[in-house]
Amino acid sequence: MSILDKEQLRANLDEVIWNIEEARISVSEHHIVKLVTVSKYTELENISTLYALGQRAFGENQVQQLKERMTALEELPLEWHMIGSLQKNKINNLIDLRPTLMQSLDSLDLAQELNKKLAAKETKMSCLLQINAANEESKSGFGVEEAYDMYQTIKESCPHIQLNGVMTIGAHTDDTKLIQQSFETTHNIYEKLQKEGAKYCSMGMSNDYTLAIKCGSNLIRVGSALFK
Ligand SMILES: *Cc1c(COP(=O)(O)O)cnc(C)c1O
Repeated sequence: MSILDKEQLRANLDEVIWNIEEARISVSEHHIVKLVTVSKYTELENISTLYALGQRAFGENQVQQLKERMTALEELPLEWHMIGSLQKNKINNLIDLRPTLMQSLDSLDLAQELNKKLAAKETKMSCLLQINAANEESKSGFGVEEAYDMYQTIKESCPHIQLNGVMTIGAHTDDTKLIQQSFETTHNIYEKLQKEGAKYCSMGMSNDYTLAIKCGSNLIRVGSALFK
């Protein structure tokens, strides 16, 4: 971790933006892609600098760090996304932070618990269903076979959760074909869920975001490529 100067961050951001442009236009001029900057491994100062360069949406994977940063930067009109596994004992803390989007709803159990606590606080939270598209032991999320049905189940049984789409982490491999497959699988589920109101297909990180966009992603989560 280090504090990067503005010119370095500008160069990194420009490179990512141009890569996004090239990939999204190859899909369609109307394929708009949202960039969420993942700030979990970087310094607070770099977030402020990226804000000055025009970036507005940031993501964190831990409730405690999310809270510290939201508090430290509360003067700035930023959008905050929760992208990491949510422990049950942190649910209330997350609700109080009112994140723009909670992208990592990864089990029915968590959905029910979150819904209960949202109900008690008389509020709602916008969430994405996390899909474990390559069926990896190391990853959490809903299995490919159950994802569609579980989306419906949560929508019907958890009225305080506003389901807005799906999220996946690309297969952990050097084999581009397998990564592509995990994105295509997730995008297929997303397409079927559009009639249920799904708006976001969140996939793509520093190493695979252009591939993800070509597979239909409309929200990418990029960290290390910006903070090198
Ligand atoms: C860390 C993280 C990212 C960003 O990863 P980079 O490879 O640094 O771009 C994206 N999504 C999730 C869920 C993460 O945990």
